[in-house]
Amino acid sequence: MTDLPITNEMGFYEIRMESIGGFGANLAGKILGEAGILGMGFNGSNFSSYGSEKKGSPVKSFIRFCDANTTVRVNSPVTEPHMLVIFLETILDTPGLLSGTGNDTIVIINSASSPSEARDKMKLQCGTIVTVDAMKIAVEEKTRVNTALLGTVAAASGFIDPESIKDYIRKNLGKKYSFLIEPNLKTFERGLKEYQSQFFEDDGKYPAQPFKRDGQKLGYMNQPMGGVILTPGTTIHKDLTASRSGYIPVLLKDKCTSCGECDIVCPDYCFDWSRGIDKKGREGQILNKINYEHCKGCLRCIEICKFNSLISRVEYETDNKVLEVGYSTSELV
Ligand code: SF4
Ligand code: SF4
Repeated sequence: MTDLPITNEMGFYEIRMESIGGFGANLAGKILGEAGILGMGFNGSNFSSYGSEKKGSPVKSFIRFCDANTTVRVNSPVTEPHMLVIFLETILDTPGLLSGTGNDTIVIINSASSPSEARDKMKLQCGTIVTVDAMKIAVEEKTRVNTALLGTVAAASGFIDPESIKDYIRKNLGKKYSFLIEPNLKTFERGLKEYQSQFFEDDGKYPAQPFKRDGQKLGYMNQPMGGVILTPGTTIHKDLTASRSGYIPVLLKDKCTSCGECDIVCPDYCFDWSRGIDKKGREGQILNKINYEHCKGCLRCIEICKFNSLISRVEYETDNKVLEVGYSTSELV
């Protein structure tokens, strides 16, 4: 059996994946756990923590590997990972995302940046930074970022067998999603090769981000009354930008008839309306723009628009002006 390159005092090599719902972190953790434990003969465990929403809420997946003779008696989240996998750059400001990283940590991030640029974005003290443009790979292969990141995990780890991961990609997609096996294996192969890696010493540029437990903030003295919303209306500030998987709807304003059908199917009230005069000179509600901070990129609105006024575009190829103003005119598409 392959040896683990490094372990903590309990004998574990520990991996933490940080993501939000909709990017396949839970499945990636499951595939990785199975590849190591069932495929390669390590002992270990895997579990995920996630919220009730399908998209947009924080997801963490934890994987532990140890020698086959070591007993697994720990079931808590991974706080000081040997490998940290960040599924999106847009979640970097999440408190505690980098906590517990150190000199021995390999931080893999889905980013088009170089490792040195990524270090500055993360303000990481030290360790190995591996960047891979998993979103671009996923868009090009019509898959998701999770299998590209699994490829980079295998390459950067130095001990996880890519063939074992491929085996468990096939098994997990199974007969039901057999049409997704080939594109996902291709995505995996690209993640295995298309990455950049660099080690950074602690040069004093950024401080350490040790793991710390905040403790209980609420108790019997200050617990708010159950069922009471103390801060109503906060969803107006909720930014779902990070939930998008590479695609956005673009509103072609000159074609739109303000029929309102897109608004019926949008789960997040992204469409901005106001009273005005329509193209036929009648007074009514006019569609002004899409509020992209609320758009999770489900693209349901595109399917329903019978006037082809909404089109799907790859987000990173779209002119920033479209995202700023919330609509497009033909010259911006
Ligand atoms: S469904 Fe299409 S035409 Fe109707 S309001 Fe929405 S974008 Fe405009
Ligand atoms: S893609 Fe369309 S329907 Fe989906 S959240 Fe965005 S605006 Fe709403």
